[in-house]
Amino acid sequence: MFKIFDYIFPKYCLSCNDEGQYLCSTCKTKNFKAWNGTLEIAAEKHFDELYCLGDYEDELLGKLIKTCKYRFVKELTDDLAKLLAKAIVDKKYIGVVVAVPLSKRRERWRGFNQSAEIGRCLAGELKLEYRDCLKRIKHKKAQAKLSERARQKNVLGCFEIRGEVPETVILIDDVVTTGTTVNECARILKQAGAKQITVCVLAKG
Ligand SMILES: [Zn+2]
Repeated sequence: MFKIFDYIFPKYCLSCNDEGQYLCSTCKTKNFKAWNGTLEIAAEKHFDELYCLGDYEDELLGKLIKTCKYRFVKELTDDLAKLLAKAIVDKKYIGVVVAVPLSKRRERWRGFNQSAEIGRCLAGELKLEYRDCLKRIKHKKAQAKLSERARQKNVLGCFEIRGEVPETVILIDDVVTTGTTVNECARILKQAGAKQITVCVLAKG
């Protein structure tokens, strides 16, 4: 089955075009353009640290994330999760891995939650626990066209705690833009007893 699929759609490295993999072993070792900015969150910040694997402006990283998201390529999602896992080890971050959830409706439509896939793979790599302790209960409007204030209001009440909240959390999202979504997740996690939250994302968009 997979062989036929590979034959019809041969894989090429998204970076160097080499046939065989979406990200070849040479390109896997490349560093992405680092994101060195700070998030300007107008509201109170509820997480303690933020780590981005790279900048969404980085041509390769942007392309990899888009390929994962729209053509759900499991092995590529795993590659990115492993790169993020390595960075987390280097930074000595620990904690229970929690992902920003998608609404059921969106997950059904897309078939998966990329952040959860990344979180699960990353936790497996690092032998950390993965816990689904956030649930999205409200479908927010698209954030892109909203002002910062409106975004904050838009995410309020979107998430709910499910089960026991760990004290130390590594909160995973695929791309962070203004940070209002991860901040809202961090807010309710802290309210439910989390003490230390490190947000880890693939890219700052
Ligand atoms: Zn390559």
